[in-house]
Amino acid sequence: MSEAAFCPRCGDPAPEGATGHTRRERALCNDCYFEDFELVDHPDRVEVTVCAHCGAIQRDDRWEDVGARDYTDIAVESVSEALGVHVDAEDVSWGVDPEQVDPTTIRMHCQFSGVVRGEPLVEEFTVPVKIGKQTCQRCGRIAGDYYASVVQVRAVGDRTPTSEETERAREIAEVITEEMEATGDRNAFVTDVSEKPEGLDLKLSDTKIGKNVSRKLTEEFGGAYDSSETLVTEDEDGNEVYRVTFAIRLPEFVPGDVIDLEDDDAGPVLVRSVQGNLKGVRVTTGEPYEAGYEVGDAPDARKLGRVEDAAETTLVAVEDENAVQVLDPETYESVTVARPSYLDTERETVPVLKSRAGLHVLPS
Ligand SMILES: [Zn+2]
Ligand SMILES: [Zn+2]
Repeated sequence: MSEAAFCPRCGDPAPEGATGHTRRERALCNDCYFEDFELVDHPDRVEVTVCAHCGAIQRDDRWEDVGARDYTDIAVESVSEALGVHVDAEDVSWGVDPEQVDPTTIRMHCQFSGVVRGEPLVEEFTVPVKIGKQTCQRCGRIAGDYYASVVQVRAVGDRTPTSEETERAREIAEVITEEMEATGDRNAFVTDVSEKPEGLDLKLSDTKIGKNVSRKLTEEFGGAYDSSETLVTEDEDGNEVYRVTFAIRLPEFVPGDVIDLEDDDAGPVLVRSVQGNLKGVRVTTGEPYEAGYEVGDAPDARKLGRVEDAAETTLVAVEDENAVQVLDPETYESVTVARPSYLDTERETVPVLKSRAGLHVLPS
């Protein structure tokens, strides 16, 4: 008979093929084995710190959103995570029954059953859960109007950003913060949005949001941005903390503007796009216009008006390939004007813009 056939603790014959974590455990007889056996390893109490504002749970040094409906959910989850069922147990079933003692104390009644070495076992115990309330970093920062970057939405020249441009800036900031939140970034939020006479200022919790808003807005509306850092403080570890300002300069001209280019006598241009470089159409000929690479979206030009400023007027006569007669919308005199290729001579009326540069037919 081999050594392992006897229980090393009491010397009784040990059962064949008994379970156990170690060789020594496997050699123990059932009495000795069950003497120290615990079906479930559980803590005496569980403490959970939650954010009183958003319900996030603190785990180690981090705050985590758990989407819990109430503290009972949090207690059930925390206790479940803290329990360990013995590896030798089979056919384990369990239940927990929370009992709210006071607003921050929950007694978790736990019942476990399982089969070990062929013996059915039941274990019942209660774990008190204490809920501690604090303010998480995110909620603290929101309450303190914390921001790490400012985006200044401005336009070049005389104009201020359009409502379409400022609305889009807000929207992009919201979408980017939502995307960052969705990936578990708890420190992404829009701190403040304020309208200024010269544009819009966005205060953001993270420099990444500022950079992305600036990049996307200039991709969509043209223009450029630059960034500058200001040292604001030192953090608790003595690291320097910088705040980054992104200054966006949207292009001077926007689609729908009619502009007169300097050093150019081929006629005014109706702006169609300012993404990358300025593109449009000559309102004298209907020929396309595109600013050179070096000019980009900022040609030297003066603004004559907007498409909305055009007045519908009577097309009196077609003179030749290059000229038509229309009624001046102010004087009602018949005048000869350039005939752009987009002009439909079948029409009775056409939109015309009267400006410093004269009278021009715009596309319908
Ligand atoms: Zn024994
Ligand atoms: Zn919070």
